[in-house]
Amino acid sequence: MNSSTYTLESIQSFEGKYPKQLWYLFLTEMWERFCFYGMRGVLTIFMADQILGLSLSDKDANLKYGAIQAFVYAFTFIGGIFADKILGFKKSLFFGGLVMIAGNIIIAVSPQDFFYVGITLSIIGTGFFKPNISSMVGDLYKEGDPRRDAGFGLFYSGINIGALLGGAVCVYFGTSKDYGWSYAFMSAAVVMSIGLITFLFTKKSLGPIGDSPLLDLPIKKRVTKEIIVYIGALVSIPFIFMMIKNTDYTDYFMYTIGPVALLYFIYETLKEKDIKSQKKLLAALVFILFSIAFWAFFEQSGGSLALFAKNNLHSELLSFQINPNIVNNTSNALFVIIFSPLLGLLWLAMAKRKIEPNTVLKFGIGFLFLAAAFYIFYYTRFFADADGLTSLNAFTLAYLVITFGELALSPIGLSIMTKLSPKRLSGMMMGLWFLASAYGQYAAGLLGAGMSSPDDNASLITKLQLYTDGYQQLAIYALIAGLILIILSPLVRKLMQEVK
Ligand code: GLN
Repeated sequence: MNSSTYTLESIQSFEGKYPKQLWYLFLTEMWERFCFYGMRGVLTIFMADQILGLSLSDKDANLKYGAIQAFVYAFTFIGGIFADKILGFKKSLFFGGLVMIAGNIIIAVSPQDFFYVGITLSIIGTGFFKPNISSMVGDLYKEGDPRRDAGFGLFYSGINIGALLGGAVCVYFGTSKDYGWSYAFMSAAVVMSIGLITFLFTKKSLGPIGDSPLLDLPIKKRVTKEIIVYIGALVSIPFIFMMIKNTDYTDYFMYTIGPVALLYFIYETLKEKDIKSQKKLLAALVFILFSIAFWAFFEQSGGSLALFAKNNLHSELLSFQINPNIVNNTSNALFVIIFSPLLGLLWLAMAKRKIEPNTVLKFGIGFLFLAAAFYIFYYTRFFADADGLTSLNAFTLAYLVITFGELALSPIGLSIMTKLSPKRLSGMMMGLWFLASAYGQYAAGLLGAGMSSPDDNASLITKLQLYTDGYQQLAIYALIAGLILIILSPLVRKLMQEVK
């Protein structure tokens, strides 16, 4: 088939469980996530690494980590809007991918000198890439197609295969004496290029999905608008650069972008003529707001849990010797890959018996797992020896539990965004979903910094106590959030109407 024979109808009326385009998007996203999680995996260790000129205290590394991650996800909101209004998903994705490659190559050239410039490019690139590929997954399905959640479940496995490989390979290169940080960032660039090439060769099969919304405009006018977006993105480099270097500016940015996004959301919601679709958008907002709390806790994984793993864990898992940071960076992804398909089967079996929980309840369950996981992180203190080192087994168990929470919330969240958003706002809504992650990341950095010892030379026992005290608090808050969601569920379901 050539691209013109792929109509929306022919794509969406696929037979079997998954449309073949899903596999192509799966592969593209998998390589992008390799690059992203590779970068993320080494970020805190790299910044806190005393050998490098960047050397930061644990507290600053936590804050900076939160700031960088917050920016990455905040830009998805902007990337989503530009895709809706001007570029379309396909061009946004391609542009974003190129910028990410450039960012990683720049850091690889000289990690100490170009770290912040490269990270700035990664932030912009991810903003254009990440929300728009997820929106395209949603477009592969007709409204009401019961296979959509399974599609997002599969897509989520792709995300995590990439995350797993990226976390392992980049941390290995970065921390190895024979290779070092340049190899870590260069491998991310190479892999991202593979992702983009995959997309280039398969995008024909997406037919009209992800085309620019301005196809009716004269070509000159359209291209001018596109170029303005590209230039605008590049012009923003020095601003983002400044803001990640100075965490005070990050604060101002985060105070501003959320309220502005909310106002913009209200404006677009009021523009919707149909009260039914307004209600659905409101329901989507409830999911988005709760997800902020979820990610704030969950994302301790890249900040405080990375430092906890570095300082306070034995390196014995079952009876194998393993670097606890590799466990920290990879176990979650590994568990998602194993359990995401199984959970999909469980939802299907429950659906057959008409006992499948609806999306609101799934979110609530997600929080309950989150609470249980943080309780286990807290409980690790009771396995600690006199040096403040504790059990990697218990730590890994907590990751298993947190993963179930994630699976009940994150792929389901992507899917529900595409179910509740009108077509003209789908990029923006996906962007808002990830903007919530940005706030989650930001809050995660603050929470992590709050838990870290003010004194970097504090004993490991003190560090252990401070971190685990913090984890106990998080367990309690997660439990409360889960209960509130479950209580609110009838109300939210009313807003969702026929959507499940
Ligand atoms: N782990 C998922 C991903 O990388 C979800 C991240 C998020 O929404 N914060 O896509």
